[in-house]
Amino acid sequence: RRSLRIGLVPADGIGREVIPAAKKALEAVGSDIPKLEFHDLLAGFELFTRTGTALPDETIRILREESDCALFGAVSSPSRKVAGYSSPIVALRKELDLYANIRPVKSVGANPGGKPVDLVVVRENTECLYVKQETIVPSETGREARATRLITERASRRIGKMAFEIALQRARKQVTIIHKSNVLSVTDGLFRETIRAVPRLPEVGGKYDNVRLEEQIVDSAVYRLFREPEIYDVMVAPNLYGDILSDAAAALVGSLGLVPSINAGEHFVMGEPVHGSAPDIEGKGIANPLAAIRSAALMLRHLGYQKGGDRIDAAVNQVIEEGEVLTPDLGGRSSTDEVVEAVLKKI
Ligand code: NAD
Ligand code: MN
Repeated sequence: RRSLRIGLVPADGIGREVIPAAKKALEAVGSDIPKLEFHDLLAGFELFTRTGTALPDETIRILREESDCALFGAVSSPSRKVAGYSSPIVALRKELDLYANIRPVKSVGANPGGKPVDLVVVRENTECLYVKQETIVPSETGREARATRLITERASRRIGKMAFEIALQRARKQVTIIHKSNVLSVTDGLFRETIRAVPRLPEVGGKYDNVRLEEQIVDSAVYRLFREPEIYDVMVAPNLYGDILSDAAAALVGSLGLVPSINAGEHFVMGEPVHGSAPDIEGKGIANPLAAIRSAALMLRHLGYQKGGDRIDAAVNQVIEEGEVLTPDLGGRSSTDEVVEAVLKKI
């Protein structure tokens, strides 16, 4: 590659504060990665309220046709139903078939949450309740709402393979399937069964034989995650459980503002901090930029630029370990800009 074309979609709230930070970190890497080209792209709820569109066709087109990868900030999806609005991040994951949401959660130095944490949540990113097929009908006793929860063998198998691939690259080499098959024996049953069968697939050819396969029911998995996070390595989960588990795991390392992710598919990768648009701190200049910066590093590594990604991560880890320039979510007094400056200096 002569150049790396990156779509930037800050979207709403603190997304607009942390995506510029990630951009600066990428620019600071220099010679370990190709020349960078950025596209500034629109999406989000605020855009919807102004223009009636949350995800313009032009944004999708530029991502599809003129970008090698992307960075997404966060969207402010209202908790009430708004006619004509649908979350652009959920739509983008589907449009670009970014079937895996990979969320590494790792503590640095002395973990503020207590025990050291080093795990990866591998979240299925295209189905489960996020197919958003909801209906509501009147009944004699009040309205009745229903949702479809879709689990397919195809999506479960590919997310399972992704989890095993990630486990292979890690020291512990362990995959834990997170499910609720004791109650949802059909849907979660299919998810569990399909992933259990992955190591024996003919095309896998025994390459996962050294990966230890475990499973855990989702509620007790959260309980054990808080008490003994060290028992987990790679946790693979259907969409909703994966979403909840990764926010929970973020609490163990001190802040949502530290946890990165990538949305990955066969042909595209999009970095995205795990946190949302944080309306409570929006515009105050104190959003923690480290999750977004780490998402950029994760994206680089996924594209094969190991050295570039490692340089960003090393800088972030140093800043956390020194503990002198931190945003308030980590108990510090520094601003977003000051943290970005500290990271850029280390890169
Ligand atoms: P949130 O993740 O935005 O915030 C939760 C808490 O963590 C807040 O107290 C916030 O201040 C804090 N926090 C989050 N990121 C931080 C950071 N970088 N630095 C410092 N503190 C940080 O979740 P929420 O408040 O439940 O949701 C707000 C909005 O974000 C909602 O509209 C929701 O739909 C949306 N959301 C979007 C995404 C996404 O875009 N992928 C994910 C989650 C929530
Ligand atoms: Mn979430």
